[in-house]
Amino acid sequence: MDFILGRKTMEIKVQNAVKSYGSIKVMDGLSLSFPSDGTACLFGPSGCGKSTLLNCMAGLETLDSGLISGVKNLQISYLFQEDRLLPWNTAAQNIAAVLQGKDRMPRAEEWLRRVGLGGARQQYPCQLSGGMRRRVAIARALAFGGDLFLLDEPFQRLDAHSKNEIADLIEKTTAGKPKIMVTHDREEANRLSDIIYILDGIPIKILDKMQNID
Ligand code: ADP
Ligand code: MG
Repeated sequence: MDFILGRKTMEIKVQNAVKSYGSIKVMDGLSLSFPSDGTACLFGPSGCGKSTLLNCMAGLETLDSGLISGVKNLQISYLFQEDRLLPWNTAAQNIAAVLQGKDRMPRAEEWLRRVGLGGARQQYPCQLSGGMRRRVAIARALAFGGDLFLLDEPFQRLDAHSKNEIADLIEKTTAGKPKIMVTHDREEANRLSDIIYILDGIPIKILDKMQNID
């Protein structure tokens, strides 16, 4: 048992998870655990079931059988694989939508500045590049906060410079909180994670579990 900000948190565990979509068996007895602080990385080929696993952890999909424990009392901030920005809202309004209080617009604008988009606050998603939209989605996930961060391919469409800056921002603003991150990039996994699960599938299986000692 660990303590985060005075709150009791359990180790996050997936036990014997089974999940199918029709005849497609995505999980067939998957078990793995995540540290209650630090970053765990899911590294595996496209289509092996990583996003399905995150969706089940977030409670957006249900397992056919098995158990996910340690997440029940956690507020989850989920950066989806897709940006999922509201097209009728500006960049700032997209972030303000997850905030509370009268000062939510200036706080949203501050988050935009932190991801290097201070000048884009009044622009709509269709007026932004793919990388800029990704940064708005990241800013929204960080602004929401929460106890557990699910980050599905967070750095897609970002150039090397933005990637480094955003990685530093994520580390700084989520310090001490558990993060589960999906990536296809081995270097990214090595740099950012405490634990790396090398996966294959489907059904999803663990080829290797590496403890990062850097
Ligand atoms: P990854 O994130 O590793 O690329 P996904 O979890 O998105 O993989 O998908 C794993 C498998 O499950 C794929 O074969 C995909 O087509 C299938 N799948 C995912 N979501 C659905 C869904 N909502 N309905 C039907 N099949 C799905
Ligand atoms: Mg995916």
